[in-house]
Amino acid sequence: MNVLLVYAHPEPQSLNGALKEFSVKRLEAAGHTVRVSDLYAMKWKAVLDADDSTEHVPGTAFSPSLESKHAFENGTQSADIAAEQDKLKWADAVILQFPLWWFSMPAILKGWVERVYAYGFAYGVGEHSDTHWGDRYGEGSLVGKRAMLVVTTGGWEPHYGPRGINGPIDDILFPINHGVLFYPGFDVLPPFVVYRTGRMDEARFAQTTDALGRRLDEIWSTRPIPYRRQNAGDYDIPECTLKDAILPGQVGLGVHVAR
Ligand code: FAD
Repeated sequence: MNVLLVYAHPEPQSLNGALKEFSVKRLEAAGHTVRVSDLYAMKWKAVLDADDSTEHVPGTAFSPSLESKHAFENGTQSADIAAEQDKLKWADAVILQFPLWWFSMPAILKGWVERVYAYGFAYGVGEHSDTHWGDRYGEGSLVGKRAMLVVTTGGWEPHYGPRGINGPIDDILFPINHGVLFYPGFDVLPPFVVYRTGRMDEARFAQTTDALGRRLDEIWSTRPIPYRRQNAGDYDIPECTLKDAILPGQVGLGVHVAR
């Protein structure tokens, strides 16, 4: 199988750097082909702007989504964007690995998503009508592929527990797991989270890599998070709201997971 690891940490000798090296070796030892997009090493351009299309006419108004659509359809995207899209098409599984920075992904990785997820590639896919609101949330260009987050946090595990002050980790990662990964079609695996990184030592690092190694070994068999599919009958279309008969009266992010 082909695995793409999109990695965002500026320092190769960091904990994240060590975990990335471990993951590559583990996956290769299991016979998989691994490609790494090491965004800092690549000096990835994080900002989406008019330079992302080779055809933008200087001095004319820049429409981020319409120029993305035109460039994707006409092969005039900048080469770095097209190369990452090719890697996504090649991959059977994608891992996004990053330290949690301000309760989200580092800006360089957010910029990878914004630029690589072009209109027509990751959004704006499929029929948009009053009965079918696009191929998304369980359908789309990346359907059939698996994805998983590997995330490190300074905060402790209880800080991210059901009543933890930071909010539950599943809620914090929801915009990435559900919004960035499930939206264009990935089957999203439960995240692998390393908490309280300030307390890492050799013994704990060994436990951490043991656990991560098991998750990587099981990447093809782990049950994905059972997010509800937009076009499978649970939602009223075109409002895209959960039907009243499902979990009546309940609200919040958790209603979009079919438990
Ligand atoms: P490092 O700092 O490289 O290492 C952490 C520890 O692991 C060190 O003690 C190091 O000695 C040890 N270590 C490294 N490699 C090994 C190895 N091979 N074997 C054994 N031990 C090793 N945290 C939150 O919880 N929520 C936030 O919102 C948040 N926002 C942040 C925003 C910013 C801008 C920054 C800089 C940090 C933020 N943090 C936050 C903390 C951040 O998530 C952690 O600092 C990060 O996850 C640690 O990962 P690292 O790879 O940088 O670790």
